[in-house]
Amino acid sequence: MEHSFIKALSEIVGAQYTLSDPESLACYGYDSTPELQSRPGVVVLPGTSEEIAKVMALCDGAGVRVTPRGSGTNLSGGSISFDSGVVLQTSRMNRILEIDEENLTATVETGVITSTLHREVEAKGLFYPPDPGSMNISTMGGNVAENSGGLRGLKYGVTDDYVMGLKTILADGEVLKTGGKVVKDVAGYNLNQLLVSSEGTLGVFSEITVKLIPKPQTKKTMLVHFPQLEQAALTVSHITAARIIPATLEFLDRTTIKCVEEYAHVGLPLDVDAVLLIEVDGHPAQVEEDAAGIRDICERHHCSFFQTAATPEEALKLATARRVALSALARVRPTTILEDATVPRSCIAPMVKLIQDTAKKYDLLIGTFGHAGDGNLHPTCLTDERNPDEIARAHRAFGEIFEATIAMGGTITGEHGVGVAKKKYLPKLVGESGLKVMRGIKGAFDPRGILNPGKIF
Ligand SMILES: Cc1cc2nc3c(=O)[nH]c(=O)nc-3n(C[C@H](O)[C@H](O)[C@H](O)COP(=O)(O)OP(=O)(O)OC[C@H]3O[C@@H](n4cnc5c(N)ncnc54)[C@H](O)[C@@H]3O)c2cc1C
Repeated sequence: MEHSFIKALSEIVGAQYTLSDPESLACYGYDSTPELQSRPGVVVLPGTSEEIAKVMALCDGAGVRVTPRGSGTNLSGGSISFDSGVVLQTSRMNRILEIDEENLTATVETGVITSTLHREVEAKGLFYPPDPGSMNISTMGGNVAENSGGLRGLKYGVTDDYVMGLKTILADGEVLKTGGKVVKDVAGYNLNQLLVSSEGTLGVFSEITVKLIPKPQTKKTMLVHFPQLEQAALTVSHITAARIIPATLEFLDRTTIKCVEEYAHVGLPLDVDAVLLIEVDGHPAQVEEDAAGIRDICERHHCSFFQTAATPEEALKLATARRVALSALARVRPTTILEDATVPRSCIAPMVKLIQDTAKKYDLLIGTFGHAGDGNLHPTCLTDERNPDEIARAHRAFGEIFEATIAMGGTITGEHGVGVAKKKYLPKLVGESGLKVMRGIKGAFDPRGILNPGKIF
């Protein structure tokens, strides 16, 4: 990248926040997605919305491409600049601007870490439910751009259920404000919802207003062992069919259980096909009733062990089994390909079976865990990118898994986004007309195509 352009950027954000040395460029050349790397031309860390607007106007004028980046925890290659452009990193914009207890909203700068917001609102008896597994590092801006889900998605929904207002800097530096604190707003197209999930391709969020709810009074955490996979899967759909909506209904298969136990020593059984982590929350009487109903359903489906946490510490330990699943799997082999196949809840049993059969067919080690209550499974292939033959088999296996997912009425990504990692599967899912509309929207927001090019389609 030309020195004069880097100098112009540094005049906007400050020289210490303009990084172009080889070490920094190497650090920002990858995210949490395996196999993908590419060094940007320069990295800028703006400190205000005004600085973002000036950076965008400069880049738009010069036709230089910009990739927004929060903490780089996405799993679809979304925050990598593949054309030596500008990476715009948001970590300096980390202030919680307001917690409005009358309107039940919080307004944050884009770089606020998700769990920081959790802590701040919970200290006031309020609750911001979206809790991606990465919540201790991911940013609110990244969560909005990916429409992140989490362990509490079944009962409380995902990020887009909470976004009420956005301040977005468009590709040419213009500021777009959408929504706000009003609960009802039907004035024109719902641009908030359109911008959520846009993966950095339509604009750069600088401020985000989210809805808060009262913090649940109490919760109960349960861990249930199932000798047979089918019974665990049936339990998931029968719990919701019984009109019980747990906050959390998570699944770990045999491979994942083994890896978690070797890593975290939480006392998981090594001789069962599956465990479910279940959490119910709310009014104490309701929690008791739901927990009893769940126990009954689990026993009717031949669970071999049903454990209820007696203390908050024990609850944390049980939840750890699920929270550490990815880290536990990731240490087994050098490369971890974490996928995001999502099917209707009733298809979980055939989907998990299909994943296991496909792993056998291609001689791969694949562990599956995920948000079973949402039908959102994470088949995770433990491999080594230095072995081209194994990597090719992994890609063929995932191709088949996604074909089957679509055939079951599911989707190629429930929460990780398309980015570059999954764009080859998108046409099959949304069809030509879907792609045409999406391209039209991209053109309306970013006619020169400078924002996060090559992502989604
Ligand atoms: C261990 C682990 C567990 C995870 N668990 C979950 C989970 O449970 N649920 C889930 O949904 N995801 C999960 N993820 C994926 C990931 O953490 C989320 O997608 C997260 O929202 C990304 O946030 P980030 O700040 O790291 O964003 P980045 O990875 O930096 O960016 C993600 C995308 O957002 C865009 N972007 C970032 N900031 C902005 C902005 N200000 N304006 C516009 N676009 C922007 C980027 O261009 C990119 O396309 C997990 C990842 C890991 C590594």
